Amino acid sequence: SSRVMIIGAGHAGGSVAAFLRQFGFAGPITLIGEESAAPYQRPPLSKAWLSGDTDLETLFLRPNDWYADNDVNLRLDTVVRSIDREKNTIEIDDGDGLAYDVLIIATGASPRWTGVEGEQLDNIFSLRTVKDAELLKSAINPGSQAVLIGAGYIGLEVAASLRKAGVDALVIEREARSLARVASAPIATFLEQYHKDHGVEFLLEHEIAKFQGNGKVEKLHLKNGSVIDCDIAVVGIGVLPNDGLARESGLACENGIIVDENARTSDPSIYAIGDVSFRPLPHYDCAFRLESVPNALEQARGVAAILCGRPAPAIEIPWFWSDQYDLKIQIAGLTLECDETVLRGDPASHKFAVFHLRKGVIRAVEAINAAPEFMMGKKLIGKEASIDPEKLADVSLSMKEIAG
Ligand code: FAD
Repeated sequence: SSRVMIIGAGHAGGSVAAFLRQFGFAGPITLIGEESAAPYQRPPLSKAWLSGDTDLETLFLRPNDWYADNDVNLRLDTVVRSIDREKNTIEIDDGDGLAYDVLIIATGASPRWTGVEGEQLDNIFSLRTVKDAELLKSAINPGSQAVLIGAGYIGLEVAASLRKAGVDALVIEREARSLARVASAPIATFLEQYHKDHGVEFLLEHEIAKFQGNGKVEKLHLKNGSVIDCDIAVVGIGVLPNDGLARESGLACENGIIVDENARTSDPSIYAIGDVSFRPLPHYDCAFRLESVPNALEQARGVAAILCGRPAPAIEIPWFWSDQYDLKIQIAGLTLECDETVLRGDPASHKFAVFHLRKGVIRAVEAINAAPEFMMGKKLIGKEASIDPEKLADVSLSMKEIAG
């Protein structure tokens, strides 16, 4: 049967190998990754693992001997240099050409850097890999002063973990609020206050100008001229898709590798899954690059199903979670083109949800410590349900009663 080659041994790549075997795929599978670790989960790197509650072993997607036991040829510390679509081969760093029948690109994304002067100083970190996380963790001491560049999920999660570890945390954000691209204003306002209550400081609408230090970072200069003392900096200003290999081989790319609903690229024998893929979202009539574990799993499962001759599973509503302190944040759907916002529950109780509607139809839900709202909200989004906003806001009615 056909030879499957997977580039990138991260969440999506590791999962597609596992689903293929689970669904009975009997052909050869090669999984190539440039990191030294077998596929692992990244979410804890900014959360429980960083604040010291979990050890590294618990992060692996599969036990290390799973790959040999399941006849998956896992090649770590190996970088794929190019794809030759005419010969159906890929070239790895020692110059070897490896042949494929089906190629799956799961190269993920890499952190963006700010590009300001001094960014190469020691103790300035990004956070994507176990290596990054270990370096950051080893730099942390109680009483350290950390600046977090960017109030996205990484910045806020790291701030929460650092506070737990007794580190001072100052978040610097260019926009007027946190999570500007990825959460609504009521959620961001609540989270900012929650962080402040836990000792995190914020400088919003501020841009950084340069880092300064002698070997290690000591000061951060802002564009307004102010200077901040720090001994750790974490840059969390988003990621860029690792789509260089695909672009060079002539695959259609935009913000990531363009794929269809089955994760197929412009070349029918090549798929792209996970953070690197620019995928259609049929529920929202648009295409998007999603950066989440559920997305990586969905596309991995879908491609494995297709390669095993199974029907492709139905497309999911995109969803995401984050943990900060004792808050479980769960988000489903996209708020694009919504015209109405409904608050359900009291933010002061640390348990509430924000629903987003378009012409009366639920399109997205953002839930804080509110699992039923998230679960039912996600279902209602899938059904394109019209719900009376007054009912939705009425906490004397359960989500079940509201859904009818
Ligand atoms: P990755 O997991 O990044 O894997 C890609 C792999 O490909 C990497 O190992 C890379 O080294 C390798 N690679 C790239 N190019 C090559 C090449 N040329 N040759 C060989 N190998 C290559 N998502 C959530 O849903 N919830 C969360 O709470 C959450 N928290 C997160 C916290 C952190 C700190 C981070 C970094 C991410 C978090 N995410 C979260 C996002 C989630 O981890 C990603 O969406 C997911 O890892 C994407 O999987 P992927 O396989 O596409 O990419």
